Amino acid sequence: MNKAIFLDRDGVINKPVLDLVSPEQFELLDGVPAAIKKINDSGYLAIIVTNQPVIAKGFVTTEGMDEIHRKMAQLLGNARIDKIYMCPHHPEKGFDGEVKELKIECGCRKPKPGMLLLAAADFDIDLKNSWLIGDSDTDIAAGKAAGCNTIFIPAEAKNLLEAVGRIINK
Ligand SMILES: [Zn+2]
Repeated sequence: MNKAIFLDRDGVINKPVLDLVSPEQFELLDGVPAAIKKINDSGYLAIIVTNQPVIAKGFVTTEGMDEIHRKMAQLLGNARIDKIYMCPHHPEKGFDGEVKELKIECGCRKPKPGMLLLAAADFDIDLKNSWLIGDSDTDIAAGKAAGCNTIFIPAEAKNLLEAVGRIINK
């Protein structure tokens, strides 16, 4: 079986922005390429699990989000994200411009573990020997619900590089 380090995106990989909807708004946090390269070299998979309700809200399309992720890949250089799982849903209906079919109670929006369980099935991942690194209670809850180990930034590690160092150097 494989092992993974699941990564939240906003606030862990990139600087958090309210409604990040264009590549120009996407900036990496310090040390992130080195942290992800370290994951790549360790044999863990590097998998992003991200809630993106901005898609359900109609602020950006799935294609627009792909463009943001191409910018991310470009900024990461030779560090590689193995897969991005994204929840495009949002449960609260009744706003202008929303994408009605995405305004649902889904099984993938963190704190639910749906994206991690799907990844585990896709990549044959041993969840109890895998980790989730996040910066919110909902991230940590999703990781725990999937049976993973978790690291909360910045309470348990200052940033992604420090968190990854803790997992890999043990
Ligand atoms: Zn969802």
